[in-house]
Amino acid sequence: MEIQNHGRFFDPHIHMYSRTTDDYEKMAKAGIEVIVQPSFWLGGQRNFVGTFEDYWEHMISFETKRAKDFGIEHFVCISVNPKESTARPLALEALEPMKEKYLGRERVVAIGEIGYNLINDLEEEIFLKQMNISLSKDMLMMIHLPHTNKMEAMKRIQKILNDNKYDRKKILIDHNTEETIQLTLELGLWAGLSVYPVTKLSPERAMKIIEKHGSDRIMINSAADWGISDPLSVPLVGEKMKNEGFGSTVIEKTTCLNAYDFFKQSPRFTWKP
Ligand SMILES: [Zn+2]
Repeated sequence: MEIQNHGRFFDPHIHMYSRTTDDYEKMAKAGIEVIVQPSFWLGGQRNFVGTFEDYWEHMISFETKRAKDFGIEHFVCISVNPKESTARPLALEALEPMKEKYLGRERVVAIGEIGYNLINDLEEEIFLKQMNISLSKDMLMMIHLPHTNKMEAMKRIQKILNDNKYDRKKILIDHNTEETIQLTLELGLWAGLSVYPVTKLSPERAMKIIEKHGSDRIMINSAADWGISDPLSVPLVGEKMKNEGFGSTVIEKTTCLNAYDFFKQSPRFTWKP
């Protein structure tokens, strides 16, 4: 589906590593000006620390250039993804080069995605280590909620945040649903809503959440990846909100400016609306 450009859009969560150059072309046409790409898995198990390094380097260098060719500004979040965090000793070993060689690079604006996938102690060990790395480097964090048992993951996150060691303004919780949004906002965190053709939110569900919970600290993203996903989710929701009669301020905040307000806390996030 071709989306007409009705404004300026920011997709704060998209895995361009698994998308084509045609996608970049359509995204630029639809008005997407800036994107953030968090670290994901490769579709299969990694066997070497070197595959993390090559992947991070690819995102920082090649994807930034591929996006720029279409006038899109591209930034990166680096992490050992929750889906990869139970591998031992691989996941632990990957944290060293991540810390020493990649987190300080130009275009790296946050640690992420980190968090839970199956929700177990091995995942939590890597999650906590990465939270503490981001604390020591004063970096933003993008935390992923799992596809199932989201509330259980939220409760664990709430417990971790209880000692107030982490600055909540610097934490984005992604893949929220009707079930988790209230707690995410009450905890003072930023909230991502992933609009995805299957398994995640539809545009209608995302709009209902915004209607009910307001537009502060909420941002729409596509979370486009290896699956059947839509890299135009953000402009699509913008268009549907307009048709539904949402005000332009609410549309701008949830499809661009809230994500900007979150990421501009990183000194390496240089895009400006
Ligand atoms: Zn993702």
